[in-house]
Amino acid sequence: MDWKEIFISNTDWESVFNIVFRTFFMFVIILLVLRFSGKRGVRQLSVYELAFILGLGSAAGDPMFQLDIPLIQSVLVFAVVLIFYKIITYLMSLNKKVEHILEGSPVYIIKDGKLLINQHEHQSLSQDEFFAELRIQKVRHLGQVEYALLEINGEVSILFYPEKEVRYGLPIYPHEYKRAENLQENQYYSCMQCGETVQLTADMPQCTSCGHKEWAVSLNIPVTP
Ligand SMILES: [Zn+2]
Repeated sequence: MDWKEIFISNTDWESVFNIVFRTFFMFVIILLVLRFSGKRGVRQLSVYELAFILGLGSAAGDPMFQLDIPLIQSVLVFAVVLIFYKIITYLMSLNKKVEHILEGSPVYIIKDGKLLINQHEHQSLSQDEFFAELRIQKVRHLGQVEYALLEINGEVSILFYPEKEVRYGLPIYPHEYKRAENLQENQYYSCMQCGETVQLTADMPQCTSCGHKEWAVSLNIPVTP
């Protein structure tokens, strides 16, 4: 292995200064374009916003060290992508349909403490990811949740039941989300697949909603503030 060739090759002091200047220049351009796009920081991006960022990606980074790329070409790419972004954003503000096509629409994933499985299947969010998102938002079991909505930027919005209306529901913490072994009568159990919650009357039931056969002991603890 020729380590000098890998790490240094034909880099001389002139190209070092060249790279420092190019990086500084592109950094300023990136900042200006992002500020001018009107975005306020990026926690999570919609698909359309992600396309905008990806479009800028290599136009931003490559000219920093590829010394044969004139900076004007990169600035041109930035200008064109920004203009497209602005035009499309404007079209979306005029027409809801365009917005739904480009950004998707929010989807309900919980209603009355139950997972809406059929709709959920179409989403790219796995049950693990979804439970993690709920736990971060202080959900301990689904009986606390009246509605949960998957937003277009991938975040989950939750409408909680008021304290007095909290019902029995499926626990979502790993130490509680586990298969109940000895089912007892009159105890509440939740389907581990869809969250359907029943008070046990006869023997081992099958979930009437989804046909699943694994049950976890339900909780009805209110949301801790
Ligand atoms: Zn079920």
